[in-house]
Amino acid sequence: MDNEAKPTQPRELVIPPPRADRPPLHANLLNHMQQANTTLAPLFPYLHPGAIVPTGALFIGETGKDYGQFYHHNSVDEIIIAFVAEGATLKTGQLYNGGRVHGVNGFLKDQTAPGSFVLFTVTQRQLDEGPQPEAFSMICAKCRTQIFKGEFDGASPPEATELDHPFMSAAALPELLREFNEDPALRKCPDCGHDNDPFPVRTWGWDMYAEQSRILAGAKQLLLEAGPT
Ligand SMILES: [Zn+2]
Repeated sequence: MDNEAKPTQPRELVIPPPRADRPPLHANLLNHMQQANTTLAPLFPYLHPGAIVPTGALFIGETGKDYGQFYHHNSVDEIIIAFVAEGATLKTGQLYNGGRVHGVNGFLKDQTAPGSFVLFTVTQRQLDEGPQPEAFSMICAKCRTQIFKGEFDGASPPEATELDHPFMSAAALPELLREFNEDPALRKCPDCGHDNDPFPVRTWGWDMYAEQSRILAGAKQLLLEAGPT
C-alpha cells in the first residue's frame, strides 16, 4: 500500500447556478420600504431553508410616537447595515452583528422628533434543517423584571416563499402578544406591581403584515381552485 502523501488537489468551490424558479432578484431599499406595511419587511420572496433573507427596516420619528421596547432572541445571526440615518442611534454606513439576544426599539435618539428616521437592512440566513427558535420578551418599565416571554419557530418549511409562509419575525408577533395586550392582569409586574402598557403592535405594522399575508395566501388558493384542473 502506498502511504506516500499525494499532492492535495485544490478543492473546487462552486456556487451552483440558481434554480429556474428562483431567479436572482434585486430591490431598491428606498422604493421597497416606501411601500412596506411593516417596520421589518423581507426584500425578496425566498424564505426556504438555507436562504439568505435580507429585510428592510424603517422607523420614523413623530410627535407622540412610541415604538416601545422588547428583546429579540434569535438562533441565527442578524447582520445590520444602516443605509440612511437622521437623528438615529445608528450611523449611515454602520454595519454590525446584532447578537443572538438584542434589545429592539425605534433606533432613534428621540422617537418623538419629527424628521428623524432610520433606514437599514437586517439579513439572516435560514437554517438548513431543524427548528430555528426565536422569542420575544419584555421587561417591566419600572423595575426591569421580565414580564413576558413568547417563543415561536422561525424555521422555514421546504420551498417556502413569502406568500405561502410569511416572515415569522413579524407575522408571528400579533398572535404571540394578543393575550398579553388584552389582559391587564398579565401586564401587572409580579415584582413591583407596575401596570405596564400594552405593546404597540400597530406602530410596528406587524398586524397589517400578518393580516395581508393571511388574506393573500387565501387569495392564491382561490385562484388555483378557479383555474383549469
Ligand atoms: Zn416591575
